[in-house]
Amino acid sequence: AWQRVKRRLRAELGEDVFASWFARLELQEVAGGVARLTVPTRFLKSWIESHYLDRVLATFRSEADGIGSIEVGVRGPMAPPRAGAPAPKPPQAVRPAPSHSHPAHDAAEPERAGRPSETAGDLGGAPLDVRLTFDSFVVGRSNALAHAAAERIARHDGGPALYNPLYFHAGVGLGKTHLLHGIGHAVKAAGRRVIYLTADRFMYGFVNALKTQSALAFKERLRAIDVLILDDVQFIQGRSIQAEFGHTLNALIDAGRQVVAAADRPPTELESLDERVRSRLAGGLVVEIGALDEALRASILQSRLEAVRATHPGFEVGPAVAEYVAKAITANGRDLEGAVNRLLAHATLTGAPVTLDTAETAIRDLVKNREPKRVKIEDIQKLVASRYNVSRSDILSERRTAAVVKPRQIAMYLSKVLTLRSLPEIGRRFGGRDHTTVLHAVRKIEKAIGEDTALCDEVELLKRMLQD
Ligand code: ADP
Ligand code: MG
Repeated sequence: AWQRVKRRLRAELGEDVFASWFARLELQEVAGGVARLTVPTRFLKSWIESHYLDRVLATFRSEADGIGSIEVGVRGPMAPPRAGAPAPKPPQAVRPAPSHSHPAHDAAEPERAGRPSETAGDLGGAPLDVRLTFDSFVVGRSNALAHAAAERIARHDGGPALYNPLYFHAGVGLGKTHLLHGIGHAVKAAGRRVIYLTADRFMYGFVNALKTQSALAFKERLRAIDVLILDDVQFIQGRSIQAEFGHTLNALIDAGRQVVAAADRPPTELESLDERVRSRLAGGLVVEIGALDEALRASILQSRLEAVRATHPGFEVGPAVAEYVAKAITANGRDLEGAVNRLLAHATLTGAPVTLDTAETAIRDLVKNREPKRVKIEDIQKLVASRYNVSRSDILSERRTAAVVKPRQIAMYLSKVLTLRSLPEIGRRFGGRDHTTVLHAVRKIEKAIGEDTALCDEVELLKRMLQD
């Protein structure tokens, strides 16, 4: 039946579309009315889910009886599990495998050394890290609003919830999880019932409850708390799970229970959730945590250094070194923590004081890591050519037929946004064109993207393929 499904998709969608999206789609198993499909990359998974899920399901249903739903997973090579994630995984591998090109979405949680201060039993609530408290959270310009909202929520007792849900979004390592744990500690200290769940845990808890036919009990227990904290909401995927997530959200909010959520993007951009869930998430207070400015990085660094000194009294980092680190590490709090660990390792191993020189060596990889992935102009040209059925030499040629001009302009545009090359340099690499030609192409595509969502998707797709 699977071969027939594929043949029909190919016939109905055309060779091009099929080759791009479905050639590497494979059937893993059909069990309990669920057809589990796999693809090799996380990106293919999300693309198929967002654009073709209904189509594939309909085709599947017409070819095989008893298919209730389909799920798309990412197949090996198996990535190392994220620290802190539950050991057993839900069978349908709903969590995408890490792809090295999207660190902001995939960066693994660092090992939390803190002793668990609480476990929420079979609800699957994750323990709170004792180190991540309001006390250890450094407030600066970019997180002041988020911090203030978090404290208000945590202090609030009785009466209707203030902002519901409270939703934080920010790139990786900017303190979302820290704030959420801070709220958890404070709410717990006030004697109220709180559960902290990551998307992984939520999905795992729910899938598990379904398996053991205790879904109702799971839901009831989840709804019998004062504050539900949900981290990394962007990872919630799968139809039944996201529907369940929506129900839980509605039930809690309607009952006046506080919900706090965090993700790496605003609610409107949570593509894996349906429109109603997104708008519910957006319906309370949405706060973005901005990048750490240098002053904030310096304070966080100082506070980390002090914390380390409590256990390693001999560990000294002079002001010049601290300033260098705060300047060099611009990305996020996680890298700052990594830098402190490297300095400490260095100092412990060599027994020598940390000089600027040794600091530079010790944190070099962290500084380097932040450079954007280099995409080659040649690769852009090749990929775009193959997507549009022209040859690379067509793209470099003088030909001005529409069939060639459009891919050429897209390739120039991608070269500009992905390679950091100058316009004249890009012009040279496109058969010796003038930089004004490149500029014209870039502007034209920018404008077209704003007006044409199909093109916008297409370009986004090419970008991801190039960076994958
Ligand atoms: P996110 O969840 O946004 O990816 P985390 O909360 O895990 O980020 O923060 C990453 C690291 O940076 C943690 O060690 C955290 O304690 C630290 N950190 C981030 N922001 C701050 C801050 N404002 N004050 C103190 N530590 C911070
Ligand atoms: Mg986090």
